Amino acid sequence: MNAPLPLAATREQNAETARALERHDQPDAAELARRLSRETQGEVLFDDASRGRYATDASIYQVMPVGVFVPKTAEDVAAAIDIARDLHAPLLPRGGGTSQCGQTVGAALVVDTTKHLRQVLSFDRHAPTVEVEPGIVLDHLNAWLKPHGLWYPVDVSTSAQATLGGMAGNNSCGSRSIAYGNMVHNVAGIAAWLADGSLLRFGPLATLGEKERAIADFVRGLAHEQRAEIEARWPKVMRRVAGYNLDIFHPQSERPYTDDGSVNLAHLLVGAEGTLAFTRSLTLKLAPLPRAKVLGVVNYASFHAAMDSAQHIVKLMPSAVELVDRTMIELARANPAFRPVIESALIGEPQAILLVEFSGEERGELLRRLQSLVQLMGDLGLPHSVVPMADEAPQKALWEVRKAGLNIMMSLKGDGKPVSFIEDCAVPLEHLAEYTDALTEVFRRHGTRGTWYAHASVGTLHVRPILDMRRDGAPRMRAIAEEAAALVRRFKGAYSGEHGDGLCRGEWIRWQFGPRIDEAFRAIKQRLDPGCLMNPGRIVDPPKMDDTRLLRFPPSYKTIPLKPVYDWSAWDVQNDPATEQVTAPGTGGDTTGGFAKAVEMCNNNGHCRKFDAGTMCPSYRVTRDEQHLTRGRANTLRLAVSGQLGPDALTGDAVAAALDLCVSCKGCRRDCPTGVDMARMKLEVQAQRRARHGLTLRQRAIARLPDMAGFASRMPWLFNARDRVPGLAWLSEKVLGLSAKRSLPRWRRDTFWRLVRPHAHASLRLASREEVLAAAKPVVLFVDTFNGLFESENAVAAVRVLQAAGYAVHAARAGDGAALCCGRTYLAAGMAQEGRAKARALIEALRPFAERGIPIVGLEPSCLLGVRDEMQSMGFGDGARIVGRHALMLEEFLAVEAKAGRFAPPLRAASRRMLVHGHCHQKAFGVMQPVLDVLGLIPHAEVSLVESSCCGMAGSFGYEAEHHAVSMQMAELSLLPAVRAAGDAIVVADGTSCRHQIRDGAQREALHVARVLAEHLA
Ligand SMILES: Cc1cc2nc3c(=O)[nH]c(=O)nc-3n(C[C@H](O)[C@H](O)[C@H](O)COP(=O)(O)OP(=O)(O)OC[C@H]3O[C@@H](n4cnc5c(N)ncnc54)[C@H](O)[C@@H]3O)c2cc1C
Ligand code: SF4
Ligand code: SF4
Repeated sequence: MNAPLPLAATREQNAETARALERHDQPDAAELARRLSRETQGEVLFDDASRGRYATDASIYQVMPVGVFVPKTAEDVAAAIDIARDLHAPLLPRGGGTSQCGQTVGAALVVDTTKHLRQVLSFDRHAPTVEVEPGIVLDHLNAWLKPHGLWYPVDVSTSAQATLGGMAGNNSCGSRSIAYGNMVHNVAGIAAWLADGSLLRFGPLATLGEKERAIADFVRGLAHEQRAEIEARWPKVMRRVAGYNLDIFHPQSERPYTDDGSVNLAHLLVGAEGTLAFTRSLTLKLAPLPRAKVLGVVNYASFHAAMDSAQHIVKLMPSAVELVDRTMIELARANPAFRPVIESALIGEPQAILLVEFSGEERGELLRRLQSLVQLMGDLGLPHSVVPMADEAPQKALWEVRKAGLNIMMSLKGDGKPVSFIEDCAVPLEHLAEYTDALTEVFRRHGTRGTWYAHASVGTLHVRPILDMRRDGAPRMRAIAEEAAALVRRFKGAYSGEHGDGLCRGEWIRWQFGPRIDEAFRAIKQRLDPGCLMNPGRIVDPPKMDDTRLLRFPPSYKTIPLKPVYDWSAWDVQNDPATEQVTAPGTGGDTTGGFAKAVEMCNNNGHCRKFDAGTMCPSYRVTRDEQHLTRGRANTLRLAVSGQLGPDALTGDAVAAALDLCVSCKGCRRDCPTGVDMARMKLEVQAQRRARHGLTLRQRAIARLPDMAGFASRMPWLFNARDRVPGLAWLSEKVLGLSAKRSLPRWRRDTFWRLVRPHAHASLRLASREEVLAAAKPVVLFVDTFNGLFESENAVAAVRVLQAAGYAVHAARAGDGAALCCGRTYLAAGMAQEGRAKARALIEALRPFAERGIPIVGLEPSCLLGVRDEMQSMGFGDGARIVGRHALMLEEFLAVEAKAGRFAPPLRAASRRMLVHGHCHQKAFGVMQPVLDVLGLIPHAEVSLVESSCCGMAGSFGYEAEHHAVSMQMAELSLLPAVRAAGDAIVVADGTSCRHQIRDGAQREALHVARVLAEHLA
């Protein structure tokens, strides 16, 4: 999915950044910005909103950086290091920014490697090793390696976002670390710049150059001096990631860092959190992709028993042992999609399950090991406790449930949130049961509780107590941390076992290793970074974890007063940390009526930086800019509603710029773990902005499109002239900003409404209102503006298909006989009042049918699904709820009816393959499967789905001159190449914008599913 990248920053923009800083009396930052823009090709982002977007990571902290630099080349990084050193500006390397402890926030020049520095530099198939740039994402690397039968096996949960540079920085570890180890076990070499600008190659001792060897000798000296301390105080568990790896010279980990016990100096940089050097490239050890996997799910009557048995299970050499506790089991059960999956893994009502995976080359051998698991559990007094899963599909489904359970937990509404600060303490397996019991008791005493999950194989169980950082969260966090630390010491574990030190664990380094080793860490820092330029205040001289000045939501956090246009009260709640019960909507004390709390649901986990088959986030997929990412947008809104971007920022330019490329696809509504719905937030901002700034001519024209319908369809030649008369397209771009490169939807005389007039010669016979109310198989068709006026053949086809199956079809109209409209064009322009009036008329017209249980069937996804979504937050009460419950896409309705045996029209066999592209809202609402199901009713139909994100047209977005290029790039990510490669297949797309984009981009006509069905009627 590599699209051409528009480089957002030009030299002139960079220079303006420097001038602006000068004006704002920040001469040092101005000089830094000026030199970066003059001496590099990278993007220089020093404005408040850009800095604010890089002030947070997946931790609870927020620190404003001095500025942000996005290098285009490795030479840019080298230049930035030199400039920062000259100007004494601290430097902070950053990957995906998914760290949970505050490693990537700091008052420094943040350097983001993810946009450009993400190439594979070299590959040795036989070693096997690969050399990569630091900004490459793990999933992308593994996709590259797959054809070679290899993978990089440090499988962190954030594999779709985490960069190899960041993973090395944190010494990350995955679910399968018991089989493959942590990053430190899988890095063979690192090329990195020191703060003095020298580029060094860190690797096996025998390969070192002079300068590198001197560093190795220095570290060896320290290790020798501290030998006794290291042996006495160093945690012996594999999952220890705190401090620097001084133990390379006196190995302490239960798993040696190298296969032959030799020393590799690169391992000193692994886990250094960007405090010693800036990685230019990493050489990584690869592993063969396992050919087979089998899973055994062990069911336990008590949580304690599950924890106790882990130590025995690991002796069977599994590749993963992952815990799912009772709470997560219940969360999965509550979700209709996950219920059958989780229940297939359960025996009775277990308090916990362990997912025990065996992987390797030979399936027969793995099945024997699965059998030995069954035997072991019998020996441990737990016969018949294992559900074996030998096939891949159920295994995959169960891993998905485990991930989703965590997401549901993170979506808790209210100010109390599950906070990550002791969630990766690692203890030896023989103490795991005692440790988890004791920590659960600590939570109870502090009036909170935690849900346990993850890596039982290596004694690292994730658990997040719920704390409210705006109130008493900070002191309670410290109190719990102190008690947890005492437990870790009692059980000889590691306080920081996976997520690194950052801000929340830095102060515990001295506690863990003692003052002498801490001094040795300081000496290493001094030797490699004497000016303390690299990510200062991390690992060495860290601040207190509970310093409220560093918090994203400190007790002083406030939001602006705002009267929202939409109903956000569902987010305006508080929760009880012990029971997780939330208060009634509207009682949370939010000065913005819940809008701010909805925005604050983004916990910065970075999941939206993904490039997989989902939709989220199309604009980021094209630009790779933090500004054009759901997380970047949510952060911009949060800074605006909390007054951190100045007064009136919500309706100001920074927010408008962040939302500019949001195509309102609702991909985030579905894919974001905490349900951030940016499309809805954009509607609110547009409405607020319109109230302050008014509308442009273009916004007005597009919004009023449905109202022009009657008039324009009487004189289509006049309204279509723009695309026929030379020069008019150009003029429309100049005057209205509508791209001259686009054709506009064609007005026509034969609208659906004319075709169904009783006296029209090509009329279709529709059921009257009375007839449909009395019919045995009634359907009310909601014919939207687009299918009613521009593509009436779709609505006609829908009527034919429904009538062929014996339904009485009535096309609903407003009380005054006008066509119905959902109001979307108005809402998108910020004309909330006008949009609401349209939506109200629609609800009023449909309500009598819905109250009689008659299905309301629609054709255009954004119009129909808006009834189930936005219209529920417009204050229409029961009417909206009843209509929403009965509103279905045509294919949803037909799929249900077909299953019930009520839809079985005579259909001819298909003669061509079908390629389906899903509209974003169909995907967001999980209603793609019915499209495939109903097309599958056509005999011999061969139907496949394009794995596409947004088509890029997105309502008026793709027509707008300034968005045309980005719109086409979105389409080129996957949709248009798939359509071009589709041969003579029928291309199916339900969205009117999608069909237009396919026509413009691939010169192919795509059909609504109604037309495909109609064309196959026998
Ligand atoms: C929901 C969730 C699940 C997670 N699951 C896991 C998990 O399973 N296992 C795990 O280990 N972690 C996990 N993490 C933590 C985090 O995702 C990992 O540590 C990840 O590897 C960080 O990658 P990143 O690209 O986001 O790095 P960042 O957060 O951007 O950076 C991490 C550190 O590396 C440094 N760094 C980045 N680039 C360079 C460079 N070029 N040179 C020098 N230093 C550099 C940074 O300064 C920083 O100190 C999880 C986080 C979240 C939010
Ligand atoms: S928007 Fe959602 S997916 Fe993106 S960082 Fe925020 S919470 Fe995560
Ligand atoms: S609505 Fe779509 S484009 Fe907008 S932030 Fe969400 S995923 Fe991105």
